Amino acid sequence: MSLLDDARRLAATGPVCDACLGRVFADRSFGLTNAERGRSLRVAAALDDDEPFDPVDIADCWVCEGRCATFDDWAERAAESVETIEFETYQVGTRTPPLIEENERLLREEVGADPDAGEPFKMEFNREVGKRVGRLTETEVDFERPDVQFVLDVDADRVETTINSAFVYGRYRKLERDIPQTEWPCRECDGSGRQGSEPCDHCDGSGYLYDRSVEGLIAPLVEDVMDGVDAVFHGAGREDVDARMLGTGRPFVVEVKEPRRRDIDVERLESDVNAFAEGAVEVEGLRLATYEMVERVKRLDASKTYRAAVAFDDPVDADALAGALDELDGATVEQYTPQRVDHRRANLTRTREVYAMSGDLDDSTHATVEIHGAGGLYVKELVSGDDGRTEPSLAGLLGVGARVTDLDVLAVEGEDEPFEDDAYFA
Ligand SMILES: [Zn+2]
Ligand SMILES: [Zn+2]
Repeated sequence: MSLLDDARRLAATGPVCDACLGRVFADRSFGLTNAERGRSLRVAAALDDDEPFDPVDIADCWVCEGRCATFDDWAERAAESVETIEFETYQVGTRTPPLIEENERLLREEVGADPDAGEPFKMEFNREVGKRVGRLTETEVDFERPDVQFVLDVDADRVETTINSAFVYGRYRKLERDIPQTEWPCRECDGSGRQGSEPCDHCDGSGYLYDRSVEGLIAPLVEDVMDGVDAVFHGAGREDVDARMLGTGRPFVVEVKEPRRRDIDVERLESDVNAFAEGAVEVEGLRLATYEMVERVKRLDASKTYRAAVAFDDPVDADALAGALDELDGATVEQYTPQRVDHRRANLTRTREVYAMSGDLDDSTHATVEIHGAGGLYVKELVSGDDGRTEPSLAGLLGVGARVTDLDVLAVEGEDEPFEDDAYFA
């Protein structure tokens, strides 16, 4: 059976529009629309038969029931739904009515073709409407992670538009103590600020245990400049509430949901955040990032550098301290889950590396110690020994009780590569 014979038999099933006819042969030749394929076959058959050419009105097509005439209309509706939204990439998906899927199968059955011959209605719809959306909005199609996603629900006659999140990467310093990284809802009232009809007395009705957080000082400003509906803060780990984050800062990503603006001035945002946070928190290196940066920030193995103020229960001499620090420098320590740690975490012994450790006495019962360790190293316990749960420890080696009175994190760096990789920036 020849191509023209197949086309004749398909066309004889009833009125079939050019696109629905051509779609059966979508895998033949390139650079043609299915409508061009269908029309060409119809013309060729008319010439071959020397019969008058008989065009089909798309509205009469029994396969798509006229839907192949609606590409422009769908594209205009999709473009209208994002008129006030700034975006660079999009993707179009189509929910095909089951009746049309059935018609496509019946059409192919007529010529004994594979039920999936050519391409499905859905693919043509996605492509044809997609091309038009791109022209109307001057944006590019992206099949991976577009800024905006349209689903054309043909039966429901509705465009469903999803605006994907936008991401800003940066590093923060926390210059004051007693600021949690993320907002910390009051456990007495579950963040509601109320107990029954009364304001919660544990949090004075605020719903939060702390009135400031790193998240609260940064994320709302990013949300605001991107004109989104919500913002989520993702940190590369977190320091204790009472620890400062100094030095080169800690990587983070703010995810803004349903942003109306994406191409923002990050330098201006940086200075706005720094002005708003009034010296409690500072950000630097803000850059627009990709979706994948969230996972990178959360999962990349990172080492930490700390500076700890240590108080000893009894006087310590400089040589003994130097000797103990020398032992710990480069040591592998075993840490049983610390007593202070949330007991939802499994109790087990972890092995952690201390890459470097050094320090000096400030006076006979106080020292300042700098520690560079693998991610997950419990620094307070490395100093105190945690009643023998951490081995070796500074207290254990000195034979003197020791505890961290102040802790600063100086650096959070990827173990094998820096967080800042161009592949993760937009
Ligand atoms: Zn049709
Ligand atoms: Zn409360």
